[in-house]
Amino acid sequence: MRIVLIGPPGAGKGTQAAILREKLDVPHISTGDLFREHVSRRTALGRTAQRYLDTGGLVPDDLTGDMVRERLAEPDARHGFLLDGFPRTVHQAHELAAVLDVMGSTLDAVLEFTAPEEEVVARLLNRGRPDDTEDVIRHRQQVYRSRTAPLLAHYSDILVTVPATGPVEEIASRALAGLTDRGARLGG
Ligand code: ADP
Repeated sequence: MRIVLIGPPGAGKGTQAAILREKLDVPHISTGDLFREHVSRRTALGRTAQRYLDTGGLVPDDLTGDMVRERLAEPDARHGFLLDGFPRTVHQAHELAAVLDVMGSTLDAVLEFTAPEEEVVARLLNRGRPDDTEDVIRHRQQVYRSRTAPLLAHYSDILVTVPATGPVEEIASRALAGLTDRGARLGG
């Protein structure tokens, strides 16, 4: 299955992806993780990405798009993936559609994880990644609302919304049930 994960920073996309990739047997591809790898390897892309990560802004679309295109071309992603952190803008969604089109495929579902803003901010403050300071977190939430949330309407046909509060395993069950439901409706 080809699935995109959407939700505000702190909704638990990475946590859910770790469970779902086992159940669905597809790789978890996180653009945030890919950028952080570049930063730690000090590549040219990493040096450019660093300043966007530090402030919580979006890395420019051309850099992000090329990185995703290369990753999706790897053999493990051929039969499916959980894409986490991309697309983050409607422009990136068009880019993804074009990449998939070349591969002769389309998305099966978009999983949206929802949680109240105060809860996600509290989770991130607890996590303590370098970009998890209060100012940067608030900025990422704002970027999510203005740039990423419009994707929910864009993907309304294939959207599966999952409330992301409560025990982690329960949230994963809700997500899997939502995907099964959607598959059943498609199957007739
Ligand atoms: P979170 O979901 O907690 O914000 P991520 O690990 O998904 O964390 O992303 C961390 C940072 O990586 C973002 O704040 C942004 O700077 C950059 N980033 C990740 N994905 C994208 C993307 N699709 N387009 C632009 N920048 C991105």
